[in-house]
Parts: sequence; C-alpha cells; structure tokens
Amino acid sequence: MKKIKDYQSKDVQSYLSQVKDNDKDIGAFLEFNDSAEASDIEGTLSSVPFGVKDNIAVEGMHLTCGSKMLENFVSPYDATAVKKLKEAGAICLGKTNLDEFGMGSSTDNSALGVTNNPWDTSRVCGGSSGGSAAAVAAGMVPFALGTDTGGSIRQPASFCGVYGLKPTYGVVSRFGLVAYASSLEVCGILADSVDTTRTVFETIKGKDVNDQTSIDHIPASPEAKTIAVLSGDLGLSPEVEAAYKKAAEAYKEKGFSIIETTLPMLDYGIAAYYTIAMGEASANLARYNGVRYGHRSKDASNFEDLVQKSRDEGFGDEVKLRILLGTYVLRSGFQDQYYTRAQKIRTAVRNEFDSVFEKADLIMLPAFPTQAFVHGDSSLDQFQQKLADKFTVAANLAGVPSMSVPVSVENGLPVGMQLMGPVFSEERIFRAAEVLAEVLPPAACPGKMEVC
Ligand code: GLN
Repeated sequence: MKKIKDYQSKDVQSYLSQVKDNDKDIGAFLEFNDSAEASDIEGTLSSVPFGVKDNIAVEGMHLTCGSKMLENFVSPYDATAVKKLKEAGAICLGKTNLDEFGMGSSTDNSALGVTNNPWDTSRVCGGSSGGSAAAVAAGMVPFALGTDTGGSIRQPASFCGVYGLKPTYGVVSRFGLVAYASSLEVCGILADSVDTTRTVFETIKGKDVNDQTSIDHIPASPEAKTIAVLSGDLGLSPEVEAAYKKAAEAYKEKGFSIIETTLPMLDYGIAAYYTIAMGEASANLARYNGVRYGHRSKDASNFEDLVQKSRDEGFGDEVKLRILLGTYVLRSGFQDQYYTRAQKIRTAVRNEFDSVFEKADLIMLPAFPTQAFVHGDSSLDQFQQKLADKFTVAANLAGVPSMSVPVSVENGLPVGMQLMGPVFSEERIFRAAEVLAEVLPPAACPGKMEVC
C-alpha cells in the first residue's frame, strides 16, 4: 500500500493532469487547482496533494456547496483546517463534489455533477462527502477533507472502502465551513490509511479564535480492551451482516473482549436529528436571499419577488423541502412540540452512550445498512436514505468521535464499520483501527491510480 510519502510530488502539474484523466469516469472533483505547485515547507505533508469538499473554503477557488445558488461564488479566504494543511506544506488539488449543502447520502443531490463509485461506476459513492471519498478510493489523493453532520464522512467512506473520521464536536474548527446544521457538524478526514488520518487530524485539530465553538483536544486514554457490538436484528443486508461478524471475530482473535449491547435510542435518533438539522438549516440558509451573494434572479420586479425567485431558482428540491420543514418545526408555538423535544431525545442519546462507555471502551457498529447502491435505486429513495442514517446520526447528536473503517469486500464492494468512542478518544479509535487492519487488511479499489 502507498504511504503518504509516496504522494509527495515535485511535479504537481503532471500529477494533476493524470488525476484529471482518471477523474473522467468518476467525477470526484468539481474544480481543479490549476495553479497548484510543489511546496518547500519541510515535513510529512510537504507537497502532498489533498482534496477539499466544496462546502469548505479555499482561497481563490469556488465554494459551490454543490448548489446552483453558489455556482459562481469564489471564496476570499481559507477555512482554518485548509490553512493549517497549507502551512504544513500540503497542496490543495481541487474541490470535491457533494450533496447540495451536505444534504443527502449519495452525492446524487449535487446540482453540479454526478460522482460514481470507483469500485463500480454504476453505483453511488455515498454522501454527502462523496467526491472526497471517491477521490481517495481512486488513489487521486491520499486524503481529503469532508464534513459530517449526520454521517456524511462515514457513509461515503464505507461505500468507497476508505477511512473516514468524524472527530469530537468542536475539536476541528468550523471556520470557513458553510453551515448546514451548526450544532451537529464537524470538519473531518477521508483517508487511505489510519496513519494518514492521524497525521491530518493532528495537523488540523485545536481551538481557533475564529470559531467560538472550537475546543482544544484533551486526549482520552488510548487503550481499548472491550468493544461493544449491537445484538438483535439490525436490518442489515447479508453482506454488511457478514462484515460485522468478521470484524468482531478479528477483535476476539486479537484478545479483545466483545460484549453485546443494545442502543434503543438509535431509532428515536433519526427523528431528533432531522428535526434539529432541518431547523438549523432553515436558519442557516436564510442568508441566501439573492442580495448579498449567490444566485440573483434576473426577472424580479421588487425586493420580495427577488428573494422568492432567487431562492426558487437557486435551491434544489431536497434543500427546499428541508427549509420548509425546518421553518415549520421552529414556528412560534411549535418549538416545544418539535425542536425542544428533539433536544431532549438528544440528551437521552448521549446518556445512553455514556452508560455503554462505562462497560466498553469503544462501540463498533455499521455505517450504513447496505453497501453502495445503484444510482437512482428506487428502494433507497430520499426517505429511505434518511431512515438508513440510523447508525450514524447518533454520534453527531452526542458529539462523540467515530470513524468508519474498511473491514471487508463482499461481492466486489467494500463495507465499513464504525468505531465510536467517548469524546476525545480519537487516538483510541486509531489504535483499534490499526489492530483491525492487521487481521483484515483493507483492499485497494481495482484500477486505483498508482502514479506518484
Ligand atoms: N444524510 C444526512 C443528511 O442528509 C447526513 C448529511 C451530513 O452529514 N452532512 O442530513
């Protein structure tokens, strides 16, 4: 397997042209950085190319959020995570595709392009950080930044057979990240190895004066001996079920004790998540009014008309649906019934995790009930995709870290499992993921780019 060093490139332009060639069938990138050049900064990340999900700001590049609303918007500054990577010598190679404003699980909700799964181009790459996952799986970059509000790093990581870390809430600055649901989302990493994930995490973490919700990382104990797995019928596809068993067996073989548990709050988590996420989205997306920035309708006759038409023309259907529902749950007189209630469920989810973490060091659970599905699969419509977020949204509600780890390839497609721990337990997760990689080494995607 390639190490991060193997990606250090002195001739970035020739590397970029190979990536462009490779991306023709995949569509991971929305924009390439044509002025990318090698860095003379010393260090592990020196001249290492990376991708950035297109809802994270990179100075001088577009920041479309996969939306017509921001199709022509160019960012005047770098997000803190991007700035830290550049200061370490890494090179932003381009911006990656996503579901519009991060809303979805397939990247098919992007208004600006389709991204195919590098393992099977008839299938989705997962979402919403799907372009980042596909770029890593196809070997175009060793890592890419993503965002995770309810699973958007972990689900595409599972679908594309790469590592995907959603850090503890607040540990990576959200400055420069276009807000979807601020109390749930984090900036995180999709990468081709645990080691790369760790290096990038160490580089981008930490309190930031530009983000009042950011915090310094105070590492929890890195040791893990006991891993909790979920018992009962979880509604998994046979392939995901088989991968879950293999991963548990691998830990047993390595001397871990595996305990069975249940998390009844997972079922309530989806309703609570979508209530909170849509409420926050309706407030965050109010800024796109056709006046200050973003799409402005050409045929408006007065101010109200301008706002209405700009929003109607700029937003896609899923975004409109969420704004409408979010506005509904926040209406005066309705807040107690929906938003405040969802916040109570959120506390109950967190308490449930706390009680499991008294008995176990980590929880292992699937990232998604199925493997990557075919584009337009009617059995996984937008509503079914939301229900399938059951295993990922809970970590966002609780603010705890979780990483999707590739554990097996079933019928030619990868399956990832999440390792979830208490706040600040990222290093514990990395070490446990390394143990798993010894027994079940991650398979490379067929046709993975092998140039350096
Ligand atoms: N699928 C979830 C949603 O659509 C998660 C998205 C995300 O994490 N950005 O909201």
